[in-house]
Amino acid sequence: MEINLPMPFSYLTETQLTELSLTELKGVGDKVADKLNRLGLESPKDLLFFFPFRYQNRCYLTPFSQLVVESEALVKGHISALPDYTPSRQRFKKTFLCEIQDNENRRLRLRFFNFSSYQIQRYQIGAQVVCYGTISFGPIGLEMHHPEVSFIEDEEDIKLEYRCIYHTTDGLAQSTILKLVHQVLSIFNTSDDMELLPAETVDYLKLSSFKESIQFLHQPQININFSALQDKQSRYHQRLIIEELVANQISVLEKSFSQKNEQASFQISHQENPIQQQFLTQLQFNLTSAQYRVNDEISLDMTQSQPMHRLVQGDVGSGKTIVAAMAILHAIEADFQACLMAPTELLAEQLFQNLSLWFEPLSISVSLLTGKTKGKNRKELLAQIEQGECQVLVGTHAVFQEHVAFAKLGLVVIDEQHRFGVHQRFLLRDKGVNQEQKESCSPHVLVMTATPIPRTLSMTAYADLSCSIIDELPPGRQAIDTVLIPQARREKVIERIYQACQQGKQAYWICTLVEESEVLQCQAAETTFNELHESLKEIKVALVHGQMKATEKLEIMSQFKQGEIQLLIATTVVEVGVDVPNASLMIIENAERLGLSQLHQLRGRVGRGSVKSACVLLYSEKLSEVGKKRLKIMRETQDGFVIAEEDLKLRGPGEILGTRQTGYQKMKIADLMRDQHLIPEAQNIAIKMLKHSPENSKQLMQRWLGDVKQYQNI
Ligand code: ADP
Ligand code: MG
Repeated sequence: MEINLPMPFSYLTETQLTELSLTELKGVGDKVADKLNRLGLESPKDLLFFFPFRYQNRCYLTPFSQLVVESEALVKGHISALPDYTPSRQRFKKTFLCEIQDNENRRLRLRFFNFSSYQIQRYQIGAQVVCYGTISFGPIGLEMHHPEVSFIEDEEDIKLEYRCIYHTTDGLAQSTILKLVHQVLSIFNTSDDMELLPAETVDYLKLSSFKESIQFLHQPQININFSALQDKQSRYHQRLIIEELVANQISVLEKSFSQKNEQASFQISHQENPIQQQFLTQLQFNLTSAQYRVNDEISLDMTQSQPMHRLVQGDVGSGKTIVAAMAILHAIEADFQACLMAPTELLAEQLFQNLSLWFEPLSISVSLLTGKTKGKNRKELLAQIEQGECQVLVGTHAVFQEHVAFAKLGLVVIDEQHRFGVHQRFLLRDKGVNQEQKESCSPHVLVMTATPIPRTLSMTAYADLSCSIIDELPPGRQAIDTVLIPQARREKVIERIYQACQQGKQAYWICTLVEESEVLQCQAAETTFNELHESLKEIKVALVHGQMKATEKLEIMSQFKQGEIQLLIATTVVEVGVDVPNASLMIIENAERLGLSQLHQLRGRVGRGSVKSACVLLYSEKLSEVGKKRLKIMRETQDGFVIAEEDLKLRGPGEILGTRQTGYQKMKIADLMRDQHLIPEAQNIAIKMLKHSPENSKQLMQRWLGDVKQYQNI
């Protein structure tokens, strides 16, 4: 490999590498820089921290007799057979096939699609080649498709190595990334004092140094065990993993320390509250004791001079909305505004309806702000928010936009937090800092989630929150019968819906797709709607999906709630929060495509009333054994904690923490799930560092999290 030694500068520090433009590197023009940006790389320093996500083991030549289908291998042989067509006819051929033989006279076919005649010029009988690729079964034996081929003269030409493989983007070759990373390594001033972890920690944990670790990850020596490298268990990986976890812990701890100095926007003098009393008497049911307990915990927080930062965990249907409403009433009583955020428009609309219904008799004004609130309405609403006339605002992400300014925001409630990113929470909270009192006070923050979070993970993502649990469902709830049915028996399911609707019951039919594309989802739902509408002529069927107008959706949901619609075909827009107690049958199509927690959320839409409910998980014929096992978990338990644990094992923490959208949890080398066991140690180190070496702490955050200031503002 040729290493480009860049010339005008040599030996730059980490900070200098951050300030240097990518285009200063040899071989990087605007186009390549654009592609690097697309990978999230902004400066040469980012390249240093852009670690290979896997390695290829090119350390030994596998004899053909030991090749294993579907695994990658490095092989050596000579070309023993070539296709018999003449070059002129070649243009019409799509595949180029040639055969190589090893010393034991075993054969392997190399297959290329879309090749140019130039590329195959060098393929001559007898030529020695070394190939790397994945082995597969072909019509007459083992094959390698599109192997990387090098022609060799001499055994010594064979380079045995662990090859780094980086994530990349269209048009950016692995070799380009590799060269650039090597280039940056070669100008990186390794003599600089880069060791930021305390020396005693490095000694005690027997960590390799920062410098050798970073070099090793990009240029691994072949003297270590390959699986240790691949599984990121090498001591060099471990060293960087722990460092990244420490950096994250420092940032979370700092955040929670700075909270201790914050001033709450309001403070209640005693936990009793006349509006709350009035609200409770108008409710048609009593709170569960768990709801009372959590309400007490929230009220107690609000008697403090620092703002509340509380996470309420409660399974689907445990009644978190009422708890939020009670907290909002504290803000209203103190003459402050409250804001309730939902992850989807449909949920925001529904929360808006619920709160309006509850709060109207108490003469409290409730408004709705979503991306669909436009024009004059939006302008008027924004003015009301700014002037404090709007007391309770329910909204979606639109509320995060900069021009929404509150007069006196006292409380922020975030429903279904797992669907939001951590950053968004901070962003919204900062809206409470009002203009005159800048920085001096912050609103109370209440975060609600139906997804239980394992402790080590919450130490990272929610270290700044106290936690309450609603561990009791309202009385009279019955368990939901869950059954797994293959697509082939769809007709039977449709018949079952017919019977249920004849008995006055209501049903959901959920359409799912793997693609994130909302448009495709909606199309699928429309097709299903047409089909069911056709086969269930006597039943009132309607469709709701994310592409419909807000007013249309609202209208259909309210008709469904009033029983005018019997069967609702929906996309996963109804996943969170939707509450129609009379609906007691739920069909989920292609259930195997969804995560377990998502299925649990969907299933939680039924079983809300007093009748026995059922949930049918329709799965495709091709379902694997593992897939079946996963769905069986849904049949066996209705415990959100058990389901979340399983989901975590299967899908990793990004889904659970709801950080997919923001990239916040996208760590450079650590993996919260895999490296959970290191988090407590990382926290200890972080505490020590914050106390004894604040300067290094800051630099460590800078190293792993980028611009610290920017990070803290969002
Ligand atoms: P989630 O925790 O999933 O957000 P909701 O707040 O939507 O649950 O409540 C689910 C349903 O249970 C709603 O219809 C709500 O009115 C009802 N509910 C809440 N608390 C109680 C209670 N203590 N007794 C009876 N029903 C309740
Ligand atoms: Mg809810």
